[in-house]
Amino acid sequence: MAKYVYDFTEGNKDLKDLLGGKGANLAEMTNLGLPVPPGFTITSEACRHYLAEGAVPDGLEREVAEHLTAMEKRMGKTLGQADDPLLVSVRSGAKFSMPGMMETVLNIGLNDESVHGLAKQAGGNDRFAWDSYRRLIQMFGKTVLDIDGELFEQALESLKGDRQDTDLGAAELQGLVETFKGIVRDQTGKDFPADPREQMRLAVMAVFDSWNAPRAILYRRQERIPADLGTAVNIVAMVFGNVGNDSGTGVAFTRDPGSGQQGIYGDYLQNAQGEDVVAGIRNTIPLQELERLDKSSYDELLRIMETLENHYRDLCDIEFTIERGKLWMLQTRVGKRTAAAAFCIATQLVDQGLITLDEAVTRVTGDQLAQLMFPRFDSGTEKKKIAKGMNASPGAAVGKVVFSSERAVELAGQGEDVILVRRETNPDDLSGMIAARGILTSRGGKTSHAAVVARGMGKTCVCGAEELEVSIGERRFTAPGDIVVNEGDLISIDGTTGEVFLGEVPVVDSAVVEYFEGREPDDDLVRAVDRIMRRADEVRRLGVRANADTPDDAARARRFGGEGIGLCRTEHMFLGERRQLVEDLVLASGDEERQAALDALEPLQKADFVGIFQAMEGQPVTVRLIDPPLHEFLPDLTDLSVKVATGDATDKDRKLLGAVKRLHEQNPMLGLRGVRLGLVIPGLFAMQVRAIAQAAKEVPGAKPEIMIPLVAAVQELEAVREEAAGILADLGVEALIGTMIETPRAALTAGQVAEAAQFFSFGTNDLTQMTWGFSRDDVEAAFFSRYLELGMFGVSPFETLDRDGVGRLVTIAVEEGRAARPDLKLGICGEHGGDPDSVHFCHQAGLDYVSCSPFRIPVARLEAGRAAFAECDSDTR
Ligand code: PEP
Ligand code: MG
Repeated sequence: MAKYVYDFTEGNKDLKDLLGGKGANLAEMTNLGLPVPPGFTITSEACRHYLAEGAVPDGLEREVAEHLTAMEKRMGKTLGQADDPLLVSVRSGAKFSMPGMMETVLNIGLNDESVHGLAKQAGGNDRFAWDSYRRLIQMFGKTVLDIDGELFEQALESLKGDRQDTDLGAAELQGLVETFKGIVRDQTGKDFPADPREQMRLAVMAVFDSWNAPRAILYRRQERIPADLGTAVNIVAMVFGNVGNDSGTGVAFTRDPGSGQQGIYGDYLQNAQGEDVVAGIRNTIPLQELERLDKSSYDELLRIMETLENHYRDLCDIEFTIERGKLWMLQTRVGKRTAAAAFCIATQLVDQGLITLDEAVTRVTGDQLAQLMFPRFDSGTEKKKIAKGMNASPGAAVGKVVFSSERAVELAGQGEDVILVRRETNPDDLSGMIAARGILTSRGGKTSHAAVVARGMGKTCVCGAEELEVSIGERRFTAPGDIVVNEGDLISIDGTTGEVFLGEVPVVDSAVVEYFEGREPDDDLVRAVDRIMRRADEVRRLGVRANADTPDDAARARRFGGEGIGLCRTEHMFLGERRQLVEDLVLASGDEERQAALDALEPLQKADFVGIFQAMEGQPVTVRLIDPPLHEFLPDLTDLSVKVATGDATDKDRKLLGAVKRLHEQNPMLGLRGVRLGLVIPGLFAMQVRAIAQAAKEVPGAKPEIMIPLVAAVQELEAVREEAAGILADLGVEALIGTMIETPRAALTAGQVAEAAQFFSFGTNDLTQMTWGFSRDDVEAAFFSRYLELGMFGVSPFETLDRDGVGRLVTIAVEEGRAARPDLKLGICGEHGGDPDSVHFCHQAGLDYVSCSPFRIPVARLEAGRAAFAECDSDTR
């Protein structure tokens, strides 16, 4: 027989799944002997049943009645008893804290008779009794009966006038109760329910229903809390903070959640009930002042806070009430904290001997570390927000607006900070992106060109700010409210929130980045980060490499703790002045002309690789042969057409136009790219392999690995591998030859592919695109926000690896690849390689390393360390 109700003496803090956080922790405090009012918890399982079936499960009402009777016996009074009533609160409490998102009803059990009994209990305090009664009708009306809360608020406000709520006398409050009852009658057509057990029954169902209130749904989506958990309901004997000035209610933290400093942090409100503190109905006083008001309760509270910290071995937050000098604990939980406090508290607890350093590693997250690495806007200043786009690459950047790469480079060359604003960026904007402090686009999603490249560079980027009308020609953009921003005007962009501000907002640098760049730890936060990172590095099994394709990025990757390059994209090496050579290659009319173009490219490529091998000082470098469709290197179709039409075209332009038309594809991402290019254009891959080999010969200790993109069938790989292996042998250079696994077919035939590959690197950007059938350049801006709203997924699959679909393909490929070739080396180099949840997946899937942009390396190192502690995988929210 299922058990749906647990007395506080039966539960404990580890039963959060069943009892919710509040119920589990009330039980834990009860068992610690702390002063918790008697009560019991209805499980979240009962809620799930109710939400699914539209009715409470069989047996629940009987169980609740039994527990209530037991509580009544213990208290020596019954719920709502006319002369001496027991009152209860009905409180929500889910597994994960959802502050203020669900409902709570206090003072259940009051009616026209028991209100007098309550006054008697409180030594003839009529005012208190009527105040409690009006609170019940107000909360019950709003929460259970769905009446607009404003109606009650207005009635209260007009009675109060300029006075405080505590200035209202008993007679006035009694009158207010009648007014409130009238509101209930008007709004529902029924009287306020006087039967205490009916009040309780209805309140329990209202709390269940509040799981699906719109604000709760929204909060869950933001916090990535599963939608199907349901909430537990706690029924707790009421204690009263509103009996008089010897009573009150408060909240406290066992240490500062902002900085982690130990001390007394909290607020107290005299003569009030819990909801008054949150509602800000009167100004609270600092907790320290309670010492003056009620020293014995204050001392006891401090003792309890110490007990709780030692017991939970973490920062706790607390809600308490004092009823006529007696302290009661109403809630505790491990408290939320800022990223900086998380690191500081974790290491302080190690020093206090409360947790081990291993536990400290599990107490912080990669997301928190990432937050500490971005420069940020000073929170204390006024800002004028003009738009919001996608938070594509975090950080804070301020600069003058420019609309072209040339202008960005020019102004940056004069020492100006610039923000490059484009509708969307393309590979030609690279120099401008490098020169700019930040990038803002009005189109494109989180895997658009701007976003991927900016993240790779650790550069702040807001993309897809669709409210902005960008006019490149007129060198200005407009924002809602007739705001016009011209070239040269200052703006500030926040890549962490996606916000765009007019003018200059002051920026603060990250000390944590300076530490990763090599500065000695010199403050508490950086020392805490240092200790935790060292331990994470000791325990992690996953290697961490970088996606880097310039010597600068390679050097930064090493400083940030990268152990090699997992993806050196070669396409950027074909831009700029070298475009000419690619054009020659495309226009070549025969073997000879083509070979001449390739011969001209080879020394340039070799120099590129020499720079990278040198920067990596003997660490492995996975060079990926050229991947994108060739038309990306050619001039724009429209530009060429205009030139030809207006008679401005040269002979070469006319030939190029022909080539661009010939190479035009409806779906270029599914067209002539990757290994297909290598097979169709003789000599192209051979040139790159020769350049890699020659460079490796020149740099002592260089460890090249050659990677073939977009392979779908082993036959493709075999053909390319054979040619490459021949070149390496001829030049006497050793290098692994492997492939990206980024098409579903390659993953599904991994056993065959592994016969021809010494390593696999999962290209999960393309693999996600092809598995979901989502164009990675278009869908995020087109409809992902709607998909997120509809709950189609909790997070974009381009951001966090989709374990069920893409993850399944990875798992199949790992198993079948390793079965065919036991020493197959396995890595990932899609954007997911630096995403915390995806790093845990990679650990579990048994990969050897993850590869991510240099700025994500510390995050990946930390998460790989955390993943090594299996127990931290479940519940570290
Ligand atoms: C990938 O597809 O995951 C990948 C790393 O390659 P690119 O993003 O360059 O297509
Ligand atoms: Mg790819």
